[in-house]
Amino acid sequence: MVRKSDARRRDTRMHHVKRLASVVLAVAVLAARLLAGAPSVALVAATTLDLYFIDVEGGQATLIVTPAGASFLIDAGFPSDGTFNSKSGAPAQARDAQRVLAAAHDAGLRQIDHLMVTHYHADHMGGVMELAQLIPIRSFIDHGAPSADAEVAVPGTQALYEAYVALRAKGKHIEPKPGDRLPIKGVDVVILASGGAVLTKPLAGAGSPNPSCSGEGVPAQEKTENPRSTAVHVRYGKFSLLDVGDLTGPPLFALTCPTDLIGAASVYLVAHHGGADGSDPSLFAAVKPRVAIMNNGPRKGAQARTFATIAQMPTIDIWQLHRSLNAGVENMPDDRIANLDESTNAWIKVSASRDGSFTVTNGRTGFKKVYQ
Ligand SMILES: [Zn+2]
Repeated sequence: MVRKSDARRRDTRMHHVKRLASVVLAVAVLAARLLAGAPSVALVAATTLDLYFIDVEGGQATLIVTPAGASFLIDAGFPSDGTFNSKSGAPAQARDAQRVLAAAHDAGLRQIDHLMVTHYHADHMGGVMELAQLIPIRSFIDHGAPSADAEVAVPGTQALYEAYVALRAKGKHIEPKPGDRLPIKGVDVVILASGGAVLTKPLAGAGSPNPSCSGEGVPAQEKTENPRSTAVHVRYGKFSLLDVGDLTGPPLFALTCPTDLIGAASVYLVAHHGGADGSDPSLFAAVKPRVAIMNNGPRKGAQARTFATIAQMPTIDIWQLHRSLNAGVENMPDDRIANLDESTNAWIKVSASRDGSFTVTNGRTGFKKVYQ
């Protein structure tokens, strides 16, 4: 005779077996979908804005991936073997395009939704044509054509622009004006400056006089394309990034002097790779970043004068993409430098939450620092 309690135990066991079977089936279906390359639903929705500051050794390449899965790349480094003015080569040898691709793969991307070219110098857009051979680029954002004097100042600018225009014709094109918002899902991106023009109205929460302004700021080292850089403010909840490319001279000064038009930002990618023409204290005083990142190379950017300005503001942590060999520079501790020499090509990654907190990770050492 089977007792009632035994029967109940058997029923319960059967119930567990059935539940286990259905879980196994669900996992198998999901695995099959993933293997078949079917569009998969993310198991856990992303909740961070991820920013990869890629070391292109004195150029710029910043990849931003929003929690909505949209990708926004700002510049793509040097062409070919990493030298100035070399012709665009085969993508397999393209040092910087390969580095951008590695970051894109790390983020799980299959395409770049939006590429912004800050300006037409080889250290920023030289790698674009090679990158386009490695991963599709859907839309292009830039300041329009370079001026005639840009070619005189930096020979080769026009040829790079023409190669880029041929590529750009295959996608969408946006030529934004200061104050415009870019159509990037999951994040608020406002144009601060472009083509030499700057915001006329302050961003929300900004607009106060800046007591740190004096004189007319530091003159731009290069006066044609750099001051025409497209600059953006990227906001996700209470977190924000200020990225001005190589914006220098009067347009950079005008962003925070005499009136602060932009307000505070959590992370600031220091203008012009940390060069001396990005060292005016007035901008740092207005923006008050917790983290200032320098996308410097061994001898590019990261000048002693900029370090000295930031050292006056002890609340700012500097992180460097590369150790600097410039005279008079006291580099940050190794854990805050992505690459100590040219033997590695790590990035600095920032993962930001809506509440404004963010984690900075050194891709070479795994060292992390959390900012609340
Ligand atoms: Zn540059």
